[in-house]
Amino acid sequence: MATIAFIGLGNMGGPMAGNLVKAGHKVTGFDLVPASRDAARAEGVAIAASAADSVKGADVVITMLPAGKHVVAVWSEVLPAVAKGTLMIDCSTVDVDSARQAHALAAKSALPSVDAPVSGGVGGAKAATLTFMAGGDAKAFAAAKPILEAMGKKIVHCGDAGAGQAAKICNNMILGISMIGVSEAFALAEKLGLSHQALFDVASTSSGQCWSLTSYCPVPGPVPASPANNDYKPGFAAALMLKDLRLSQDAAKASGAATPLGAHAAEIYEAFDKAGQGGVDFSGIIRYLRSLAH
Ligand code: NAD
Repeated sequence: MATIAFIGLGNMGGPMAGNLVKAGHKVTGFDLVPASRDAARAEGVAIAASAADSVKGADVVITMLPAGKHVVAVWSEVLPAVAKGTLMIDCSTVDVDSARQAHALAAKSALPSVDAPVSGGVGGAKAATLTFMAGGDAKAFAAAKPILEAMGKKIVHCGDAGAGQAAKICNNMILGISMIGVSEAFALAEKLGLSHQALFDVASTSSGQCWSLTSYCPVPGPVPASPANNDYKPGFAAALMLKDLRLSQDAAKASGAATPLGAHAAEIYEAFDKAGQGGVDFSGIIRYLRSLAH
């Protein structure tokens, strides 16, 4: 069993650190927010006085932070206190450049590192059923895999440094675009007098079939577990979808890829967020589309 430092004990990091404790690891954590520290303590996580303190004696350091600037700042802060041979893992969703910067910082200290963003949300974090998309060399990935398995059910090695973040933002760009597409189809069906169930029954078994329709249907009824049946309570908040769409747009600009639908999806989620709906599940975008109708 490993000695693990876990920095960033928020909605995702708190339960992930708790699952490492349940798997028998010795976990010491840190978060800036007292309530997050208290919740993690209740899960059996020992709480350190600072991020740098938490990494003392650790074999593995995991970060789960809001954005790239936080990851680069925290890794810069803790790396001088990290022991030789310690494995550095970042599970946050960040831009590919920051992920590569973090890998470079670890390499400068001769430490193995992995970017391993997740999908599966808070439910997956609690149930230890997350999917991890990992980037880093084969040796670092092999060392990270058994640790990640205590927090997830599917661990995919996507390639070298930054490849995990690349996979995450490409996947979520598909998701943002497809959710808008499915929502537009339901909004049009409503105008045409076609029932939600009829459209669902046809599209879910035809060429319109996709995850946004069959697992996360944006209207209540056809998929009882989707957030549409619970007044669009997240789930996956629209503000987080906007964050991921912006990351994909930054990456598209930097790499020269053409992603016009991704850009449009980001604009639509930005308008939804500006309308005060950032805390609503991202499938609530159908409400915004209806509001544009004339
Ligand atoms: P969160 O805001 O609940 O947690 C982030 C935590 O980091 C906070 O508790 C904050 O206090 C802490 N923090 C910030 N700076 C710190 C520092 N310098 N030192 C120590 N702690 C610090 O966010 P979350 O929902 O847990 O998401 C974390 C990451 O996971 C994000 O990158 C997010 O995009 C990604 N993610 C979230 C979800 C989701 O459904 N919530 C799903 C997939 C991926």
